[in-house]
Formats: sequence, structure tokens, C-alpha cells
Amino acid sequence: MASTPETQEIYRGRFAPSPTGPLHFGSLIAATGSYLEARTRGGEWLLRIDDIDPPREQPGASEEIPRTLELFGFQWDGPVHYQSSRTERYREVVQTLIGRELAYGCGCTRKDIAAAGKSGPNGLVYPGTCRNGLAPGRRTRALRVRTEHQHIRFDDLFQGIVRCDLEGMLGDFVIRRADGYYAYHLAAAVDDGDSGITHVIRGHDLLWCTPPQLYLQQLLRLPQPRYGHLPVAVNAQGQKLSKQTFAPALDVSLASTQLWQALDFLLQSPPEALAGEPLDIVWEWALAHWDPAPLRHRQQAPAPDA
Ligand code: GLU
Repeated sequence: MASTPETQEIYRGRFAPSPTGPLHFGSLIAATGSYLEARTRGGEWLLRIDDIDPPREQPGASEEIPRTLELFGFQWDGPVHYQSSRTERYREVVQTLIGRELAYGCGCTRKDIAAAGKSGPNGLVYPGTCRNGLAPGRRTRALRVRTEHQHIRFDDLFQGIVRCDLEGMLGDFVIRRADGYYAYHLAAAVDDGDSGITHVIRGHDLLWCTPPQLYLQQLLRLPQPRYGHLPVAVNAQGQKLSKQTFAPALDVSLASTQLWQALDFLLQSPPEALAGEPLDIVWEWALAHWDPAPLRHRQQAPAPDA
């Protein structure tokens, strides 16, 4: 049946940076890819600041990120969303999971977990030590969600079918940390679900974050977005660009050039003559020519200066 405007699924995408520092080229890839996917399908694009990890945050970054995006020509729908304003909702969700005996208190330290000696794509795999109760003398540190026998499968828009055994890959994972902060998987899954995000487009470095997030949405009966993981930009040493690898901040005075480079990185083959044109001309070209097909199965590629 042909879709009429009334039956067409709305598209709602988002970009959700953590304010751990200024945006860099890797952030620009995720922002540009998610923006072009949303806008070329007539969709909305929301901006969410994932500010739930104060120990890792850089003062001022939460304000600087929207400013930088604006100067790069991004236009988001509605207000900027801040995860720091959502802790009451996260608390309520955690209580629900505990009430349904799907979450439990864990007394293990990182050292205890490392001693079990198993790691997966997201780091250490929790061996289930406290699943049936804390050992005598132990107190609850973090809260974890049960993952027994959970197999997750999803059809990634760019990477194809992804399957995993959640218990083997990650184990019962943390939803509230030992320092009392809510964990990224919990906050992201709840916020994407609650705000009706239909498509999460982000870097391939977050591919293995999708199974735990889908699982939480399933437990909480929240809507599940489609996911698409874009290639990540790596430096000359093959490391993902990040604050830890000293990725240089985006330079707003070079916005048009850096946007051109992002389009080139995303395999859009922008014409050489477009490089250095005013920003709105580069955006106009990008919106008219966006084609995600070449991104299929691409996991990483060198950043322009690598
Ligand atoms: N805020 C996280 C980051 O910047 C994840 C964002 C996401 O889920 O897209 O790495």
C-alpha cells in the first residue's frame, strides 16, 4: 500500500554528545550522519547532552557544544535536552527493575571482576557473582540488571545483522554505578525510548552498546529505535578520535572545510570545487546528495589529518 502522509512513519533522530570536552572530527561525523539521515527523510533531529557523568565532564562543555553545532549550521528541533534533568525518571525505572527482580545489588569491586578474567567488546564481563545475593560482609556498591540467556539480534542500517549473547558478551551490567550515578546504557535506553527516537545513528565504537540498550527497552516496554552505526574516524595510530587520544577540537572558523571533510569521510564524494564554499552551500549540496549506501559494512577510516 502506498504510504500517505498520515500513514508515513515519523522519523526522529538525535545526536547525543557527552560534555567531556569540545566536539572533535569524530563527533562531527556522528552529528553530520545522523542529521543528514533525519533531514533527507523529512525527519526531526533532537540534540541531547549526555551530562550524567560529572567526574568525566569538562566545565563549560555543555554550553559550548550547542554553540559549536549552531556555528556549523546544525538546526535541532525543540529545546536542547539534558540528561542531568532526568534523574528522577532514572530512579523510578531502577526501582521498577528492582521491584520486578530484574535488578540486584552487587558488592564486587573492579578488581574482583577482573580476577574472573573475562572481557568482551565493552570491557570486563561480569561473571554473575552477586546474582543470588551478596556474600557475607559485602555491601551493595552498584546495581546490575540480569541478563541470563538473553540473545539479542538487530538489523543495523549500515552494518547488517548483529547478534549477541548478552550474558556472554557483557554479563549482568551496571544500571547505577558504585558512585551513585546512573549508567550510560540505562539513561540512553530510557531517553531514546521516552522521546520516541525512531533512528539512532552514531559511531561504530558504540555498536556493542546497542544490545544492552535494546534489552533495557524490551524489559521496560519502551519503543525501540532502529540503529545505524557509522564508521569511526581513527588517527594515524589507528586509535579512535577522542578526548583520551587528544583529538583536536573542531574549529568554527574552518566550519565549511571541516563539513566538506566530514562528507568526504562519509563517502559522499563531495566535489573538490565545493571545498571552501560558504557553509550554507556545502549544506545545500549535502542535503541534495546524501546517500548512505557506500557506508555499508564500513567500520572505521582514517581522519583527514591522520
Ligand atoms: N553520549 C555518548 C557519547 O557521546 C553516547 C551517545 C549515543 O548513544 O549516541 O559517546
